[in-house]
Amino acid sequence: MSRYLSKRYNDMDAYVPGEQPRDMDYIKLNTNESPYPPAPQVISALSGEDVSLLRLYSDPTCKVLKEKLAALYGVKAENIFVSNGSDDILNFAFFAFGKDKGACFPDITYGFYKVFAQLHGVDAQQIPLKEDFSVDYEDYIGKGRLVVIANPNAPTGMSIPLWQIEEIVKTNPDTVVVIDEAYVDFGGESCYRLTEKYDNLLVVRTFSKSRCLAGGRLGYAIGPEGIIADLEKIKYSTNPYNVNRLTATLGEATVDAEEYYRERCAEIISTREWTKKELEKLSFTVLESDANFIFAKTDAVRGEDMYALLKKKGILVRHFGAERIKDYNRITIGTKEQMEAFVKAVKEIIGEKE
Ligand code: PMP
Repeated sequence: MSRYLSKRYNDMDAYVPGEQPRDMDYIKLNTNESPYPPAPQVISALSGEDVSLLRLYSDPTCKVLKEKLAALYGVKAENIFVSNGSDDILNFAFFAFGKDKGACFPDITYGFYKVFAQLHGVDAQQIPLKEDFSVDYEDYIGKGRLVVIANPNAPTGMSIPLWQIEEIVKTNPDTVVVIDEAYVDFGGESCYRLTEKYDNLLVVRTFSKSRCLAGGRLGYAIGPEGIIADLEKIKYSTNPYNVNRLTATLGEATVDAEEYYRERCAEIISTREWTKKELEKLSFTVLESDANFIFAKTDAVRGEDMYALLKKKGILVRHFGAERIKDYNRITIGTKEQMEAFVKAVKEIIGEKE
């Protein structure tokens, strides 16, 4: 840190992304990416011509992509916002909707919420999850703050039903409720239809998980026109070209390949259930998951040790040091073959420890 950094950032802890190591070929089950490549028509969507067009700025309105997403969800293009990954949208949401009244979100959730709150000087209330790690929707009734809930939640994978979201939205009419649906395609229930009924609901989604495009950096949000216009205002006040040409083209091709992605999601869901059962046979506790990862612990090996021993065997999972969850590891669901290798490695580790 230099002596020039504005004082208000001195105590801010930046977000720590999961490892992206280059030292060897790991089975990568640590950052909830898809194990599958994008659809064939997405891979062939870019040509040399697209690369040569990089001399021109991208379309700051992302018109074609917005229209395709709007058609997919049966909403208007004015109800769609697109940006450089959903992190970008969450950042804008804290910036735009959190400062006056503060924000609230669960104590165990996506770690970036806390960072965005700190970055923008938003007073943040972290509400403890219930003992069983579920979100108690009653804690969010009439909060009068920006509410941010990942549904399904991360790193637990657990979701809350639509009617509970509606109660939260209904009872906070003067603040925005952000529902982060990064993982909803793996078994959760989307609440985007409620954005037609309530003017304070913003649903944030991403191409990074179920759409196999994490490295492309593309996120979108569905919401009422007013909230979308506010986000556009922030985007145009920071970086209007934040979706690059190549990614916009890939995104458009992705929306046209819905069936391919639905099939990949179905495969991941089935592999998730298989992995959960295998771990349960080994006496693991595995939380119910509607996401492309599971959150699991065993009494046989400490969470941190399990992470380290798996890494030695070439398998990366994600361990979080926070007191409430330090016994657990978050395991992204890979291909069936990858998960078989994971279960085999876990068996060896448990065997080694006995
Ligand atoms: N929300 C949640 C809950 C996440 O886990 C992630 C991925 N780390 C994101 C949002 C951000 O995803 P992206 O910026 O790749 O769209």
